Amino acid sequence: MKDLIPRRAKWIKDYVETVDPDNNKVITRDGSEITYDYLVACPGVQMDIDALSGLREALETDSVCSNYTDPKHTWKVLQNFKGGNAIFTQPATAIKCGGAPQKIMYLAEEYFHKSGVSDKTKVAFVTLGSVILVGTLSNKL
Ligand SMILES: Cc1cc2nc3c(=O)[nH]c(=O)nc-3n(C[C@H](O)[C@H](O)[C@H](O)COP(=O)(O)OP(=O)(O)OC[C@H]3O[C@@H](n4cnc5c(N)ncnc54)[C@H](O)[C@@H]3O)c2cc1C
Repeated sequence: MKDLIPRRAKWIKDYVETVDPDNNKVITRDGSEITYDYLVACPGVQMDIDALSGLREALETDSVCSNYTDPKHTWKVLQNFKGGNAIFTQPATAIKCGGAPQKIMYLAEEYFHKSGVSDKTKVAFVTLGSVILVGTLSNKL
């Protein structure tokens, strides 16, 4: 990250707790007050694993993983997979990368061929919609 930040920019490794627009300042977690002329806020999408009961515990097992939280764990889960139902899901909410759920499914499917479990594996893409995006796009081409 350091390599990507312009030399003249100061990288403050702290968390903004409060924005005070009347006084053009932000207050960080450690209590520092930083004033600004212009403020560009780009906090991204924050993961909230605890919004779904049991998800945190499930993600600690060898059979549930998420590329949004820990892709290295995904790789371990794929390597441990011995066949069965491989279910990939995609939420209807805003997500960090709309293509990520499908991308890892295609990569996993290819890996299952290499690891010799494809004959005893059923890959399913389970979404809230009635069609998957790939099907919709190819129909329009
Ligand atoms: C698995 C995966 C695959 C992806 N693949 C692609 C791809 O192939 N191509 C592509 O273009 N995009 C891809 N993306 C999406 C891409 O990573 C995101 O679109 C991009 O990172 C969003 O950038 P951002 O700066 O808006 O948010 P983020 O990268 O989320 O950065 C926001 C930052 O703000 C910080 N922050 C939040 N609140 C505060 C606060 N109060 N105080 C201080 N800091 C705060 C966060 O800690 C975070 O570091 C992928 C994402 C994922 C998860």
